[in-house]
Amino acid sequence: MMANAADDTPYYWDVPVPSQAQRDIIAGAGIEMVPAGPGKVTIAVDESGAQALRDKGLNLQKGEPVYKSLPSEQRSLGPTYYGGYHTSADMLTHAKDVATKYPGIAQAHDIGKTWLAGRGSGGHTMDAICLTGIAKKATDQEKVAAKTTLAPSGCALSPTSTKPRFLLTAQIHARELATGEIAWKWIDYLANGYGTDATATSILDTTEVWVVPVTNPDGVDVVASGGNRPKMQRKNVDNSGTPSSCSVVDGSGNGPGIDLNRNFTVRWGGDSRNQCSQTFQGPRAASEPETQNIQKLYSSLFTNQRPAGSTDVPDTAKGVVIDLHSYGNYGIIPTAATPKNREQLRTLITNVVPRGFTVGTDEETVGYSTWGTTDDQAHGALGLASFTIEIGPNSGTCGGFMPRYSCVDSTLWPQMKKSFTAAAQAAGAPYKQSPNTPTN
Ligand SMILES: [Zn+2]
Repeated sequence: MMANAADDTPYYWDVPVPSQAQRDIIAGAGIEMVPAGPGKVTIAVDESGAQALRDKGLNLQKGEPVYKSLPSEQRSLGPTYYGGYHTSADMLTHAKDVATKYPGIAQAHDIGKTWLAGRGSGGHTMDAICLTGIAKKATDQEKVAAKTTLAPSGCALSPTSTKPRFLLTAQIHARELATGEIAWKWIDYLANGYGTDATATSILDTTEVWVVPVTNPDGVDVVASGGNRPKMQRKNVDNSGTPSSCSVVDGSGNGPGIDLNRNFTVRWGGDSRNQCSQTFQGPRAASEPETQNIQKLYSSLFTNQRPAGSTDVPDTAKGVVIDLHSYGNYGIIPTAATPKNREQLRTLITNVVPRGFTVGTDEETVGYSTWGTTDDQAHGALGLASFTIEIGPNSGTCGGFMPRYSCVDSTLWPQMKKSFTAAAQAAGAPYKQSPNTPTN
């Protein structure tokens, strides 16, 4: 076979990126970057693409060809564990990559450091990604083109937003494996579907969708360190004051750390004071940096919608907040809701969750009281229509904390795609929903 004059065979290249300037050059060229160790990325470009980056001062080291010589060989899509689950670093990088690839409709925001990162001993910077459609009227074709060319309109970390907002947070409990994967797929569905999928396009044209795909990245690192036997870590990894008797997470999930979903300020203080317990609430309200980051995100994105002196949130309040957990197939109403708001939220949640899920308060669903949770914080402090979804049955291949990876695609994501769509569509008037014919 004759070689083309210009060789368009793609190769992987390692590129040192000691500062943001190098990353910006690659991003500016519209090329996706994959981390390849500290200060280094891998890109896939042909010879002329590589030369264009060299001309801008980058140093590229040629690696393998993208096309494998053995068609049957399976290429790893990234550092996953337990049959395909993504690590924290991967989930956080993914949010940034989507924002880089589609600057016209997506923006990533640094929302603060994890406990480990705050101590300068590894850990992560937490990210929220915002997705929203272009403001002007446009054809689908123009929308697709604008995804990669325009600057985002909206998506500011400020409560003054022209569109109603839907915020999804996932994997605050590290061992609830499917939740982060579902958040990942939601991000991709909206980003890839804008301009081509009618529902995704409509959601982003009318709503700002915010996603924190992994709320407990340090904890997920512990889980993933088990490989095909993921560790049962539920909490963050703050081990200050942890007794030596529980210095390592055990097979039940007890060990060091603080249960972030018991550490929020609203209704804090009624949960476990045992440092080894899975539900240890922490030494004081919002003691943990991950908790503080999420509380700050709530008040950055939403104004307080409950008027001073009034306990009921008015019907005109906007915004929906979902915290995704597993398991049990529940939709849980925040305990902090007044009787009137509780029934309004019951209607909203029933419309959102899949048919067959149990909707109710803590007592009506999981059967125990919780304190200092995300949904109480968002509803109690700001009047938001917030709730918890517990995804997955109690048993079977797709049940429990650690469903087989294939279950994400086969059942869990298809269910939540419908639920999140309904939640986004309700974000403009969540307290004024009327009972729907179930569609999910
Ligand atoms: Zn949970």
